[in-house]
Amino acid sequence: MGETVAVCDQNGNFLAWGAYSPASQIRVRLWSFNEEEKINAEFFYHRIKNAMLVRERTVPLSETNAFRCVHAESDGLPGLVVDRYADWMVVQLLSAGANYWKQEIISILSEFNVKGIYERSDVDVRRLEGLIETTGVLWGEDPPSKVLIKENNYQFFVDIQKGQKTGFYLDQRVNREKVKKYCSGKEILNCFCYTGGFTVYALAGGAKHVISIDSSETALLSVTENLQINGLPTEKNQCLEADVFLALRKFRDEGRAFDVIILDPPKFASTASQAQRAARGYKDINLLAMKLLNPGGILATFSCSGGISPELFQKIVAGAAIDAKADMQVIERLHQSPDHPVSLTFPEGEYLKGLICMKNPTN
Ligand code: SAH
Repeated sequence: MGETVAVCDQNGNFLAWGAYSPASQIRVRLWSFNEEEKINAEFFYHRIKNAMLVRERTVPLSETNAFRCVHAESDGLPGLVVDRYADWMVVQLLSAGANYWKQEIISILSEFNVKGIYERSDVDVRRLEGLIETTGVLWGEDPPSKVLIKENNYQFFVDIQKGQKTGFYLDQRVNREKVKKYCSGKEILNCFCYTGGFTVYALAGGAKHVISIDSSETALLSVTENLQINGLPTEKNQCLEADVFLALRKFRDEGRAFDVIILDPPKFASTASQAQRAARGYKDINLLAMKLLNPGGILATFSCSGGISPELFQKIVAGAAIDAKADMQVIERLHQSPDHPVSLTFPEGEYLKGLICMKNPTN
């Protein structure tokens, strides 16, 4: 499982080298279209090195030491995700092919100035590849329970062993900075806040007050720590452990209003077939949020569902605006940060989209 096979057309002409995955619906994931290329440790070294060079040019490394180093297909390495958190690397091996080359990949990564490499292959897509979920130290030292990272010069504690995904939502780095600009002197509602990424930026941007909502108690415990480590006023933030769908309704019934609302929900749809159900979820929260916005208020709304295209997402948000009777304009369109690049041959790699919308100031 995961061995290299040649993919040929019906006449036996070579098309590509790929990794064979007998258990998966995606039977082969391609490594290379070049027949001369040998799929070996050197191949992985070159692809990984290339991915690292792209980050050196696109990530402001003096301000940010946590970012995605390898973004799977988008870096020519299907099934391999590598995130750097200060001195640590976190690896996800999501396909039979990536798993097959595990030892070679670890030995290559260990040369990139790290203290330790930790595996977070506790992701259900592994099952589709016939692999079991695995976590643990792959190389070097055990990571501390909280790794302190720097993102745009803000600090965050990240639990790379048990946190969501590989510990932190690195894909929102650029968007957090963008949302910050709208926060000065404002009342903020940060929905699906996780460990407080947007909360830290909002208060650093001079927000008057933030309510940070998440259903995860563990995540919320980190919000206050992350404010403290940045010297930000914890009393200006209120953590609320709640289901956002219910909390928004409660705020509506109480007649509450906010100047900036952030909606960064988890993935509602991984594939296009789940799009319809997901669309209902997005419409619901966006509609409620628009009703809670003051005139001139800002909605920063995101979708990380691969099954929802940017066009469809905009349509869903537009539908929500009509039903909320809110006159909204798109001010900015947002995407995943540049350390999550999109290969032109793999447009599916573009999964995170966002809109910053403003409610008519005199509405
Ligand atoms: N905005 C965050 C990332 C959000 S990830 C950041 O910048 O880091 C999505 C979050 O939604 C997770 O923390 C998850 O615990 C939370 N979540 C999932 N379903 C929820 C629900 N129904 N209500 C509230 N929070 C929920």
